[in-house]
Amino acid sequence: MATSSPVLKPDHGARRRHFIFTDEHEQLRESVRAFVTRELRPHAEEWEEQTFPDSVFTRMGELGFLGLDKPEEYGGQGGDYFTSLVLAEEMVHSECGGLAMGVAVHTDMAMPPILAFGSEQQKRDWVVPAIAGQKILCLGITEPDAGSDVQSIKTRAVRDGDDWVINGSKTYITNGHRADVIVLVTKTEEGHTLFLVPMDADGVIREKRLEKLGMHASDTALLAFQDVRVGSDAVLGEVGKGFYHIMWELQGERLIGAAGCVASAQKAFDMTLQYAGDRNAFGRPITKFQVIRHKFADMAVKIEAARQLVYTTAWRFANGEYPVREISMAKLYASRIAFEVADECLQIHGGAGYMKEYGIERLWRDVRLNRIGAGTDEIMLDVIGRSYGL
Ligand SMILES: Cc1cc2nc3c(=O)[nH]c(=O)nc-3n(C[C@H](O)[C@H](O)[C@H](O)COP(=O)(O)OP(=O)(O)OC[C@H]3O[C@@H](n4cnc5c(N)ncnc54)[C@H](O)[C@@H]3O)c2cc1C
Repeated sequence: MATSSPVLKPDHGARRRHFIFTDEHEQLRESVRAFVTRELRPHAEEWEEQTFPDSVFTRMGELGFLGLDKPEEYGGQGGDYFTSLVLAEEMVHSECGGLAMGVAVHTDMAMPPILAFGSEQQKRDWVVPAIAGQKILCLGITEPDAGSDVQSIKTRAVRDGDDWVINGSKTYITNGHRADVIVLVTKTEEGHTLFLVPMDADGVIREKRLEKLGMHASDTALLAFQDVRVGSDAVLGEVGKGFYHIMWELQGERLIGAAGCVASAQKAFDMTLQYAGDRNAFGRPITKFQVIRHKFADMAVKIEAARQLVYTTAWRFANGEYPVREISMAKLYASRIAFEVADECLQIHGGAGYMKEYGIERLWRDVRLNRIGAGTDEIMLDVIGRSYGL
């Protein structure tokens, strides 16, 4: 605090970074932002129509952005966990939620379990090329008859000599059409088991490209597995322990998703502040109406509270804790406020908010997913409630 002046004034303009971030994080933020705004943002509209090209992975691999927090021995940058938060936050400036999601599925959903539970060979085969952007990953948990209830999935893997034979189906799989390998959750005699299944294996069928409300730049697949034969070297982690492995994976996925939600909410807020300042009604800028001012104030409080929850939880996670309750809180709260903020911002835009050219309708459609994907609001509430022994 400046104390040389006898008059203390609020320093609303001061920009201090949160304590989890260092100068290096801020430099990284600047370079990711420059890349995103220069090389991704200009294509957002085109990619909304056609989905983004695989070359985005190659380019991000070249720049080292796909392995920011991954070990150097596999081609990563060896950064801390917060570097992946920086990436998730900055990808929002592509203004293309589907693109940000496709990249996050690759870096923060499918890759972590391979690094955490994979054999050395599996890491060499999949993580090294994935960090380089030469192979694309996806993650298959959800099935047509089992989403929230992961225990009840039906995709089955049965031993046959030294091999396993897999039958079943998965749905809503992000990157499912473009991926080279899937981290596949199956049921085996021993319980749930994860497999790394190459997507070009015989019997893997990419059935349908699913149409969605938002996230149009991502590809979302319905997949079938018909007598897919893989060797025992395709088992990821321990046979029968897949449920615990995937629950661990979901914690990282939820936290990264929560960081993306806060950044999306901030983006919507900033876009709308700019718009509202320029928009006149009844002879004055609409920001001069108290009701609009209070909408901004309400949104700012929500965004700041969500940000603090996400950062503090990320700090605990990065320091070796496994704070499932707080991760669930962060995921729930950030997803909810991101949609509330997007909705309020659309409202402040008036009719323009409903038009494509202002971008707010796309953001509104895209962030809606977060209350469903990676665990619904209701499931987050249940995890939090149960954590108190209820
Ligand atoms: C665009 C998109 C991309 C996705 N990407 C992937 C991906 O890459 N990989 C993947 O595996 N999955 C993916 N998903 C799937 C996503 O994680 C699931 O949709 C989500 O977990 C919910 O499952 P469900 O759709 O089967 O809903 P259901 O489980 O059928 O839930 C329906 C409703 O019932 C409620 N409900 C269910 N159980 C309870 C309960 N115990 N208590 C209270 N309420 C309950 C839910 O909250 C929800 O409101 C994606 C989904 C979408 C839409």
